[in-house]
Amino acid sequence: MRKPIIAGNWKLNKTISQAVDLVTELQALVADVSEVEIVVAPVFTALSAVAAALKENRIGLSAQDLYWEKSGAFTGEVSAELLRDAGCSYVIIGHSERRQYFGENNEMVNKKVRSALDAHLAPIICVGEHLAERQAGKTESVIEDHVMGAIEGLSANQLLTSVIAYEPVWAIGTGQVATPDQAQEVHAHIRRLLAGKYSKEVANQIQIQYGGSVKPANATDLLSQVDVDGALVGGASLEAESFAGIIAAARRN
Ligand code: PEP
Repeated sequence: MRKPIIAGNWKLNKTISQAVDLVTELQALVADVSEVEIVVAPVFTALSAVAAALKENRIGLSAQDLYWEKSGAFTGEVSAELLRDAGCSYVIIGHSERRQYFGENNEMVNKKVRSALDAHLAPIICVGEHLAERQAGKTESVIEDHVMGAIEGLSANQLLTSVIAYEPVWAIGTGQVATPDQAQEVHAHIRRLLAGKYSKEVANQIQIQYGGSVKPANATDLLSQVDVDGALVGGASLEAESFAGIIAAARRN
């Protein structure tokens, strides 16, 4: 049985005090939840303060990105070790906004994934096709390229420390959510790819989240799909009530 994982990507939002308020409110709402893995990803500057506000390990802390070098002359960058030092146990890698606005490619994503794993951080690896790619019938090949590129050189154990987030780019922040069938189809495809590279057992163990306009109202249908093990949530994670609503939907499944 795979545990559902609901992660909130706060993107470039919230001051330190707003982030602490949000996580404090959220903790009260999920105080009795143990059957769902819950993760929040604030901006870098709020990580330490949110870590200090987290109690009882019910919510895991994630960064939204990292740089693969450990230290040195890399102005503006933050390493996996420093994220651990700030209290993180997860890091989002290869989000489509990073690929789109900051030129990230598979090779960079793979270096980031490896450096996260070396520092004992669980990478949440984002993959997903653009609308034009879906319309051209290229969804499966784009997903294969993203997944295989990101996990190049990983052992089965390292893969199983990772989470994959299928995030169709056309569904992110648009309100245009993938249908449960569309999500299921791609998640099953990812599992087939992993079964081919590793084994069926490994493919059956890894958590694969769906991301793209998940809200409390559509979460139940998406999360009830057999290969959908949770959600990576942007907009709806910025308010405790709506994020808790998605966690409640994951609990019911
Ligand atoms: C995201 O940015 O990862 C995301 C899924 O955003 P939203 O939920 O707002 O579509």
